[in-house]
Amino acid sequence: MKFGETFKEYLHGDQEWFLDKFSHVEYKRLKRVLKSCRTCQALHGSNKKTEQIDDEENPMLSQFCQCQSCPVCDQMFFTELMREATDIAGCFSSRVRHLLHLHVATGMQRYVLRIRQCFKNDQQDLVQEGRMLIEYITMNAIAIRKILKKYDKVHSSVNGKKFKSKMRAEHLELLQSPWLIELGAFYLNFNGSDGGEFIQFSGSFACDLNATEPVMTMVLPNSIKLEYDLTCAICLETVFNPYALTCGHLFCKSCACSAASVMIFQGLKAASPDSKCPICREAGVYANAVNMLELDLLIKRRHRDYWKERLIAERAEMVKQSKEYWESQTKYVIGY
Ligand SMILES: [Zn+2]
Ligand SMILES: [Zn+2]
Ligand SMILES: [Zn+2]
Repeated sequence: MKFGETFKEYLHGDQEWFLDKFSHVEYKRLKRVLKSCRTCQALHGSNKKTEQIDDEENPMLSQFCQCQSCPVCDQMFFTELMREATDIAGCFSSRVRHLLHLHVATGMQRYVLRIRQCFKNDQQDLVQEGRMLIEYITMNAIAIRKILKKYDKVHSSVNGKKFKSKMRAEHLELLQSPWLIELGAFYLNFNGSDGGEFIQFSGSFACDLNATEPVMTMVLPNSIKLEYDLTCAICLETVFNPYALTCGHLFCKSCACSAASVMIFQGLKAASPDSKCPICREAGVYANAVNMLELDLLIKRRHRDYWKERLIAERAEMVKQSKEYWESQTKYVIGY
């Protein structure tokens, strides 16, 4: 089946009620735009040979017939796609955030939340929603890839490819979202075992923390395979209390704090906007860093001793830092 059909079926299938609330890639519309480009290019080709068709007589043609640069479709096409990708990424992260909040909330907090949700969200529902969100992000990511490929084919250009890199650079590549890692960890936390099919789902997840390089792998619908290295590039250990910076790189909170020259108790929000990621050197990546609670929970469950050890070390470091901090503050106030 062609992807367009699959996507249409997905949008209007049994998840329609769920997808109604979300933006999605206007695949059909974008494809129609490309189709008019193609028709026009074909005509334009024969036009050159015969030189019989006059642009003025065919306003539709003159509108589309700029085959080299294709100004009409370039402007509309990429702006539209960028807007859609931004919307989708926004929908996805806010829904995942909400879903995981319900899961990680503990004790009284959870109780209150549950009552507010009128007991609607039992565990199965949470997992079900997680699955739908994974499918949502994957299907839209595929739609974007396909439509960009099509764009390049129709125009024999590399603009689609360039646009893809631009999206990556602006962190709009949908499958790069740290919330997807969180969803994968959430799944594994529910299942307990790797690859187990909690409910019917075409993807599968696994996490191996004992390997020389701790990794989490996710196989998504359409056999897209994602692999995440869970080693912190600063301490070279499995990440503890992990944070994903805006650039997508994962670090332990304490390591990220030291890289940004802030104290652990101050947190990454206190980092200067000039602070750079130690791996990719991008600036301004700390303010909106994502605290990966599900991933932390996964590591805690699977690697309890290591996790405890790191917790004790982090606390000790925090006490030391705050002591130094307050000493320096008092010195400043007293002035000696
Ligand atoms: Zn075009
Ligand atoms: Zn670290
Ligand atoms: Zn980075």
